[in-house]
Amino acid sequence: MAVLIDGKAVSMQIKDELKQKAAELKAKGINVTLAVIQVGDNPASCVYVRNKKKGCEYIGIGSLSYELPEETTQMELLDLIQELNGRQDVNGILVQLPLPSHIDEDTVIKAIDPSKDVDGFHPQSVGALCIGQPGFVSCTPAGIIQLLKRSHIDIAGKECVVLGRSNIVGKPMSLLLLRENATVTIAHSRTKNLKEVTKRADILVAAVGKPRMITRDYVKKGAVVIDVGINRDENNKLCGDVDFDDVEPVCSAITPVPGGVGPMTIAMLLHNCIESVSLKD
Ligand code: NDP
Repeated sequence: MAVLIDGKAVSMQIKDELKQKAAELKAKGINVTLAVIQVGDNPASCVYVRNKKKGCEYIGIGSLSYELPEETTQMELLDLIQELNGRQDVNGILVQLPLPSHIDEDTVIKAIDPSKDVDGFHPQSVGALCIGQPGFVSCTPAGIIQLLKRSHIDIAGKECVVLGRSNIVGKPMSLLLLRENATVTIAHSRTKNLKEVTKRADILVAAVGKPRMITRDYVKKGAVVIDVGINRDENNKLCGDVDFDDVEPVCSAITPVPGGVGPMTIAMLLHNCIESVSLKD
């Protein structure tokens, strides 16, 4: 039977470590504050924003909340980011995505001061990751590296296949695995003979956004399978990109959905908030 990689437990462990660090900073007179901006009331975004604020509370850092109406203009949003960039008491700025269609996400992300870019989406953060310099790393892929390390799964020298090449998951994931000395292949919708490619993987990371697409015929026996997907199936049930019941018997370790990668994203956001103090220096 495969080892179940428990993201809930690992994320709790990380949050408890961060709670300790936040208390140490407080004792030195350093208060960490995250500003969270949401435009409109997308129900999924409301849940994510609420959980992020709860996470800040849990580890003992401050959070400022900006809930702006759907009709907020791009200029108004950019003005708010500018103001937060200039505030000494704000360490991190997070703009919840997606934004309404009249606002250009790239322009907004670029407006955030890279030293406060706790989501790690700013081109400067991505560039720093690419050339191995200090900077914020996108939370979900950073969380996956923590999940692997804390589950004592070696990455160095392993064949890793990342399925998906988005800017927030697939690309930074592959760069992080490379940084850990893996041999990395990135697969996507134009990849030929996909099953042959994914079957090479010692560690397979699925980030496609297709409910239960990855069945056992995509997986090498004994592989580690990381499921990033958060999808709804035809019965509106939450599920990953991996067909868990089909794949679990053939792999050596696997993340469930929910309770795998999901909880790690917020833990790593909180990690980035604490990290912002040293990145500022
Ligand atoms: P995107 O839609 O941005 O990217 C999906 C990627 O999968 C693309 O690169 C696409 O290829 C590739 N792809 C799509 N269909 C296929 C296919 N049939 N065969 C091979 N490749 C395919 O998604 P995200 O990266 O943003 O998210 C992926 C999943 O992860 C989603 O379910 C999302 O909800 C979840 N997610 C979970 C998070 C968490 O905290 N756990 C955080 C972020 C996302 P191409 O580029 O060629 O189009």
